[in-house]
Amino acid sequence: MAPPAIVAGPCSAESEEQLLATANSLRGIPITYFRAGLWKPRTRPGAFQGVGTEGIQWLASVKKESGLRVMTEVSLPRHVEEVLKGGIEAVWLGARTVSDPFAVQDIADALKGNPLPVFIKNPISPDTQLWLGAIERLQEAGITDITAVFRGFSTLHTAKSFHRNTPYWSVAYELKSFLPSLPLFCDPSHITGRRDEIEPMCRTAIEMGFDGLMIECHIAPNEAKSDAAQQITPDTLRGIVERLASCQRLERSQHAQLESFRTILSEIDETLLMVLARRMEVARSIGQYKQEHLIPILQTDQFSTVLRESEERARRLGLDEAFVRRLFSAIHELSISVQTEAIKP
Ligand code: PEP
Ligand code: MN
Repeated sequence: MAPPAIVAGPCSAESEEQLLATANSLRGIPITYFRAGLWKPRTRPGAFQGVGTEGIQWLASVKKESGLRVMTEVSLPRHVEEVLKGGIEAVWLGARTVSDPFAVQDIADALKGNPLPVFIKNPISPDTQLWLGAIERLQEAGITDITAVFRGFSTLHTAKSFHRNTPYWSVAYELKSFLPSLPLFCDPSHITGRRDEIEPMCRTAIEMGFDGLMIECHIAPNEAKSDAAQQITPDTLRGIVERLASCQRLERSQHAQLESFRTILSEIDETLLMVLARRMEVARSIGQYKQEHLIPILQTDQFSTVLRESEERARRLGLDEAFVRRLFSAIHELSISVQTEAIKP
């Protein structure tokens, strides 16, 4: 089996020296593109928003000195113009941009007649149609070299979860079923958000049949101005790439459809547990509130309300009411013990 293609480079371009030092240290690792974000769409204002246009020249230096092909993220037509002027060889669309069809269309229009390779991350929410729609908009603009990049999703549960983004693998499978020949990469850096989990996530991605990996890599990760916790050094990447050579795709059995259903079930089970953990967190806060306001922990009226609402919901969803009653009695019991635990001196 062909080894996975690798895109590597820092989350953000910070200085010409940082880019050159990173690119030079990547020498010898087979890398398809060197990535670095110039315009960073940040969730909250005040975070490092990237160096902007100035970094185009730095990427040109990387290309000249290392011979690597270079790519960056575009979010606006203005970025596309700058990229085309500066000789950048490929672009990616970030999750926030892909979530906005108007933004995607503007970028597709700006690329018309200049068919650069485009990597398209999945949107923020687990919506396969939105991802597919972005790919179609670029295809309609005449872009033929398109790669999808799976980077997981922001969900209600990500704050509590082990990973930074929730990887609903079923969404990647679904995209693949619509577009079987489209190359599909995995971005373990944004899924996991932590450098010690990059290698296991790469392994999972290869076993699941992804065609390539986009990995954030920085010459001094701890000093990175964005996504420091998930970036790895070029040397760490070298080790990972060497060890991945022995990693094999898992044989999909003749019951591939059954395996896909099981993947979905396992994701749902994880979600159920994350929701339960979140519920218990709220229970803990309620315990503390009750203690401060001298309210008894056990309030039978409240429990009756929970049961009645759950039964109504069960009816609406076509679930067995007696089962839901048993389930919520157990959840309530746990909630009471969590509240009691929370107010222990
Ligand atoms: C990135 O690749 O640095 C980035 C911003 O990714 P995403 O759009 O997946 O959050
Ligand atoms: Mn990043």
